[in-house]
Amino acid sequence: MDIALAVAWVRAIATSMDKHADHLTQLDAAIGDADHGHNMRRGFGRVLPALDSYPHSRATVGGVLVKTGTVLVTTMGGAAGPLYGSAFRAAGKGLNAPVAGPQALLMALSAALAAIQQLGGAGPGDKSMVDAFTAGLDAFDDATWRGATLAAAAAKAAAAATAGARSTIPLQARKGRASYLGARSIGHQDPGATSTALIFDALAGVLAE
Ligand code: ADP
Ligand code: MG
Repeated sequence: MDIALAVAWVRAIATSMDKHADHLTQLDAAIGDADHGHNMRRGFGRVLPALDSYPHSRATVGGVLVKTGTVLVTTMGGAAGPLYGSAFRAAGKGLNAPVAGPQALLMALSAALAAIQQLGGAGPGDKSMVDAFTAGLDAFDDATWRGATLAAAAAKAAAAATAGARSTIPLQARKGRASYLGARSIGHQDPGATSTALIFDALAGVLAE
């Protein structure tokens, strides 16, 4: 992944959040406060102009991701804003080079998940974005160690993250707003897990091109 690809990934996320905003908000209406799609669309919408004015001549892959995270932390509301913002910042911090290979990206994604868990305190099975992220990261890890290309590893990760998001349906939420519903949160797909799967999907999409 080079700088242009990192920018293309973030742009693809913004496009995806725009396209899926209503669906994400519907999911959040069932077990939250019906704002997740709006939050994601607005957050990544703010990132786009920030990247336009970003000095590409001095950029690194990590710099693009840190910038993205900083904008999300400062402009996107809800629980997901600080969580995704910290994740992108953590991912970017270790990538101080113009190009990042599969191993470097694996470390970056691991750092992102660690940041989400440190800030939110959720573990796998708590019905949150962590479920999709863990599934996606595990698949990426597995594919990378088998020697897969970045594109192939990202495709595996996207499929696994989508399955991870679906796996939240029978779970009872133990973190975030949905946990207030107790057992009534069972039977609904978690909105944040769904947006995480879309973020992995956007990565697979730009790498496949
Ligand atoms: P809010 O819940 O403040 O309205 P959003 O609707 O934007 O924020 O995001 C909700 C999503 O954030 C949830 O579906 C869940 O995946 C994620 N989330 C909330 N709290 C946590 C947490 N403590 N740890 C991990 N993810 C969380
Ligand atoms: Mg919400």
